[in-house]
Amino acid sequence: MSNIIQNFIKIRDELNQARLKSTIIAVSKTFSLDHIRPLIEFGHRVFGENKVQEAKLKWSDLKNKINNLELHLIGSLQSNKAKDAVLLFDYIHSVDSLKLASELVKAEKKIGIKRKYFIQVNVGKEKQKSGIEIEELKTLLDYCILNKLEIVGLMCIPPFDVDPVPFFTLLKKLNDKSNLSMISMGMSSDYMQAAQLGSTHIRVGSKIFGLRINQ
Ligand SMILES: *Cc1c(COP(=O)(O)O)cnc(C)c1O
Repeated sequence: MSNIIQNFIKIRDELNQARLKSTIIAVSKTFSLDHIRPLIEFGHRVFGENKVQEAKLKWSDLKNKINNLELHLIGSLQSNKAKDAVLLFDYIHSVDSLKLASELVKAEKKIGIKRKYFIQVNVGKEKQKSGIEIEELKTLLDYCILNKLEIVGLMCIPPFDVDPVPFFTLLKKLNDKSNLSMISMGMSSDYMQAAQLGSTHIRVGSKIFGLRINQ
């Protein structure tokens, strides 16, 4: 059996044993389809990518051929790529500004498709990190609700190399306060903690596919 499948099963069993029901988004960015394929053949259907262009090349064809394939955009999205993103992705995790939200509203109308979205929150108040500031979250959420952009939950990437638990706890609190049902947090190094704190979508890359050469 391929290593990738074994890695995946290990994570799935770990969640099951702890009675956690988080969806595993297999983050396949930078990896070729040949590398990813064993997991598709094994039956997994939920994948994450961080770049629209790369994802289009990799997944457009398969999306038409495979039933139930569910693609998640987890990387930051430039407004000018909103339309391409809406065409390909079922979920977009990186809504973080009014400008982007308004482009997504326009794109949905133009294409005639509704998608699901997470608002990315800058929980660590980091200068260069994407994500909306906590103080601006309510304004953005209200805008999305008014314009019928379906926000399903909040997403965060905690600061690197510090204990993520306080940030996961904070995001969960904000999520509950906003009355949202899903929550996107947890990566290879901290998915169990995130799942334990209520994450419904963990984004796991290297722990499934191996180390990435770029990024
Ligand atoms: C790359 C990436 C991941 C997966 O990272 P790993 O540490 O390899 O699991 C998760 N979330 C986001 C936003 C990413 O860009």
